[in-house]
Amino acid sequence: MLYRKQTGYDEFKCIADKCPKSCCIGWQIVIDEDSVNKYTDTSGNFSDRLKAGIDYNEQCFKQNVTRCAMLNDNGLCDLQSTLGEDYLCNTCRMFPRHIEEFQDIREYSLSLSCPEVTRMMMEPDFEFGITETEDEVCDNPEEFEDFDFMLYDKLEYARDKMFALAKETTLPLQERMNIIACMALKLQEFYDEGDIFEMDDVTADDTFETTGTSAMLSLDNCIKGFDALIEMEVLEESWRDSIKAAKAFWIGHKESFTTWKDTMYPAAEKEFLFEKILECLLYTYFCGAVYDGQIYARTMIAVQSTRWLMMLDAASSQELAKTIYLYSREVEHSDLNVNALIEYFEDEL
Ligand code: SF4
Repeated sequence: MLYRKQTGYDEFKCIADKCPKSCCIGWQIVIDEDSVNKYTDTSGNFSDRLKAGIDYNEQCFKQNVTRCAMLNDNGLCDLQSTLGEDYLCNTCRMFPRHIEEFQDIREYSLSLSCPEVTRMMMEPDFEFGITETEDEVCDNPEEFEDFDFMLYDKLEYARDKMFALAKETTLPLQERMNIIACMALKLQEFYDEGDIFEMDDVTADDTFETTGTSAMLSLDNCIKGFDALIEMEVLEESWRDSIKAAKAFWIGHKESFTTWKDTMYPAAEKEFLFEKILECLLYTYFCGAVYDGQIYARTMIAVQSTRWLMMLDAASSQELAKTIYLYSREVEHSDLNVNALIEYFEDEL
């Protein structure tokens, strides 16, 4: 088995009660079967409180307004402090860690929805990277009976080229993103035509044919995309309001070329922050196309999310790190919303 981990994965530590946007607030925390059984078998003083905090029909923790029933007034988890970390359900034990499985390859990433992950990534000396280790472990091959290893191989190769481009600081990040988006269009074209082998030949140099398409940066297109975000399901209505405010800001600044240019072509220090977001999202989403063939849409989740974050940042006085983790909480942590984004970009084809 080959294991890939993004930089910081092993070093990550939850800041618990110091967290400005705890993952125990606002989300419905689903409990896996084994943990439900373990909780049912508990006895003693804490057991009654634990069992009263579980919604057995929905198989999740109940909420006190929007707070997990296990969270105490000090912002700490009573389940963890009473029964220990071993008693955490899979959702709580894993978050903000995310795993993608590709037959004998396992990719580990960190979710931007965790404020501590975002803080870590925004540090000036943090560079996005991936480390690899390997062992002799072999998982049950039946689980991946239909896995298209050839396609995965092509995607992996293309993603490496995209990563190299993302770091190509001789070009403005915006141009790097345009090229990556155009590469994705070309890759999608070959995939749709069944020319999987041609995918290896897609490079930054031959993406000029695809310029002028929706993949390229355009203010009108970015504003139109805000409507897709506004229509999504939200955890907090204030998020929808902030997208509406950003849309109004950009409609009001349509004629201001300087505002647009300064936002989309930020100074090197800020550009580096957005570069890391782009890389992180490419890592998380791109190779998942092996399962659904959505090469272009998955690339655009990374590219267009980065553009939207630039626009949201310019339209508000909020710290960029906060905008990023709120975006990730609202958009990435809902299958419905991710699917809506995939459909939105699919329609651009
Ligand atoms: S969001 Fe991150 S830092 Fe905050 S409580 Fe959850 S895991 Fe900890």
